[in-house]
Amino acid sequence: MSDLNAPTDAPARKNAPALEAFWMPFTANRQFKAAPRMFVAADGMHYTTDDGRQVLDGTAGLWCCNAGHGRRGIASAVERQLATMDFAPTFQMGHPIAFEFAERLAEIAPGPRGKKLDRVFFTGSGSESVDTALKIALAYQRAVGQGTRTRLIGRERGYHGVGFGGISVGGIVSNRRAFPTLPGADHLRHTHDPAKNAFTKGQPEHGAELADDLERLVALHGAETIAACIVEPVAGSTGVLVPPKGYLERLRAICDAHGILLIFDEVISGFGRLGAPFAADFFGVTPDLVCTAKGLTNGTIPMGAVFAGRHVHDALMDGPDGIELFHGYTYSGHPVACAAGLATLDIYRDEGLLTRAAELADDWASAMHDLRGRNRVIDIRTIGLIAGIELEPRPGAPGKRAYDVFVDCFARGLLIRVTGDIVALSPPLILEHGQIDEIARVLGDAIDRVA
Ligand code: PMP
Repeated sequence: MSDLNAPTDAPARKNAPALEAFWMPFTANRQFKAAPRMFVAADGMHYTTDDGRQVLDGTAGLWCCNAGHGRRGIASAVERQLATMDFAPTFQMGHPIAFEFAERLAEIAPGPRGKKLDRVFFTGSGSESVDTALKIALAYQRAVGQGTRTRLIGRERGYHGVGFGGISVGGIVSNRRAFPTLPGADHLRHTHDPAKNAFTKGQPEHGAELADDLERLVALHGAETIAACIVEPVAGSTGVLVPPKGYLERLRAICDAHGILLIFDEVISGFGRLGAPFAADFFGVTPDLVCTAKGLTNGTIPMGAVFAGRHVHDALMDGPDGIELFHGYTYSGHPVACAAGLATLDIYRDEGLLTRAAELADDWASAMHDLRGRNRVIDIRTIGLIAGIELEPRPGAPGKRAYDVFVDCFARGLLIRVTGDIVALSPPLILEHGQIDEIARVLGDAIDRVA
């Protein structure tokens, strides 16, 4: 942090583009255009803005650049692959790099040795991974003679992307209200209980019994109608909700008892965020399917992957339909994305990044929990290299306080993410100890100023 990062009234924006044509995702375009924030370069832990300031990345882009920015190994692998073979289909034909990448992923796949979910279906994004996993679950149930199981269970405050499957099992009300959703989708209650669990480091003590909601839905709908239950092991986009101790274990047991497939959406928790390769490993609970994206390619080339247990995969391979799964994308196993992914896995391995969050987690939690007592901070939740800092909403203006904190942090050289009145942090796993302190200091000052 230097004076360079002091906010300027008249930033010198060179070659500023026209802002009319790009219809921005999840963005109030008019608000953005009034005061555009633009990144023009990225390296290591920092972005550079169009007015030449360095901004510390407290969010790994959008929970995706786990190895930090500007990784030369990925850039050259992508360049090599583009020059060798830019694209080839994977429908009824293949190319070696897709098989090679799947094989490398199988080695680190979620789950214990001997029970790894080591069959990999490639997609183009997190949303596609979710809809793919839901379809695999439905196809699996049909293949094992359980075709009446068509119901999908999600959770309140779950975020599973923006496909119709994802919004149906998701629990973000504004996403769901705007569009029709799949019939039969139902939801568990979320696990957030500020009265009992406020300011918890790691897993909260209270709330394992909330998993029994699934028993309630089984009693209500009949197990023979339920195909799968999907949860984020740690919900991120809705404000960092960490599973209570015993909760995921109980969900697993209930699924087992009733023939329901358990799906973990690890789009943010996968690839080292918690200090283990996957949340399934971190929590010691193995689902049947795991959705991933983001950190799969360090956010560089869009790609997702669904990890499936062999029981799921094999049931479809041996199934009656003659085609194992009527599903796929033009870009499933895109060679350039596979090249980026392989280079990403090399970096994770060589730099020990899939377990680095475990080494930083205590320092991270301490620094974040030291913000307790700052004005209007009503809860702090941490696990691995994730933090959620919840602010008291301004009366009549929900989300405004956190948004103001976001704007203040950005002006002073720190990128954070806000969702409602919750600040969500998820820095790249290459984070240094000094940068933990910097994030805490800039954020704490912003909270004070805004309060
Ligand atoms: N699932 C989860 C848990 C996510 O956090 C996200 C994105 N933040 C998605 C799915 C959707 O991913 P994408 O935006 O790549 O479609």
